Amino acid sequence: MQTYRLSALSDNYIFLLHDVWRNIAAVVDPAEPYPVLQQLHKLGAELVAILNTHHHGDHVGANSDLLRQFPQAIVYGGAEDRGRIPGQTVFLREGDRVKFGDRVAEVLFVPGHTRAHIAYYFPSDAPNQPGDLFCGDTLFSGGCGRLFEGTPAQMVNSLTKIRALPDNTSVWCAHEYTLNNLKFAVTVDRHNPTLEARFAEVQTLRNRNESTIPSTLKIEKQTNPFLRWDDLAIQQAMNSRDFVQTFANLRKKKDVF
Ligand code: ZN
Ligand code: FE
Repeated sequence: MQTYRLSALSDNYIFLLHDVWRNIAAVVDPAEPYPVLQQLHKLGAELVAILNTHHHGDHVGANSDLLRQFPQAIVYGGAEDRGRIPGQTVFLREGDRVKFGDRVAEVLFVPGHTRAHIAYYFPSDAPNQPGDLFCGDTLFSGGCGRLFEGTPAQMVNSLTKIRALPDNTSVWCAHEYTLNNLKFAVTVDRHNPTLEARFAEVQTLRNRNESTIPSTLKIEKQTNPFLRWDDLAIQQAMNSRDFVQTFANLRKKKDVF
């Protein structure tokens, strides 16, 4: 499976998965039709599936347009998103599986950003090959999604599921927010050399207008304060020893950063 990262809107990423052998494609969170159609055209591939993580317009905006051209495409989304995702045909719950070519994604129910948000995890299918996580607006590189419809406790629970995946997992988040996230991260985590190195790397990448995505779960576990509510340094900076309260304080602080 080949993964293409397509830029859309101002800072969204659409991910196009290509099964080279069968020449079929699936698309994760199509914000806009044009980049998807262009890539499909380049590959000469047929779109067979749309994988939505949640109902926001910058993630489902192209569903209807794509369905007009590929009416057979299956539209996956969370069960709780029923009625909010255009063209949705499959309503997924935690532990459900989504087959694409010879790969199978596991569905994680990760509410918090929205009450219905799901993530798609494709485990590694070969030694030395990382698995792939498509996490929408739940986990960003250096940050996490705002809590529009969920509670801090829900988000901690969701991020705990993500944190349990293998370190080498490629993290395909739906926005290029990394630089801003890390500008915040260094204010709450002042003595973390790994974070400093990542911040420098990301500044260099963004100065060259290059992408910071995919990240890896290893990098995120070491540098993303929103995965480190149980780290003493973060707890001290947030004046709490409670996991959920530490996370809640972080999120509140970031909301007004
Ligand atoms: Zn969103
Ligand atoms: Fe978004």
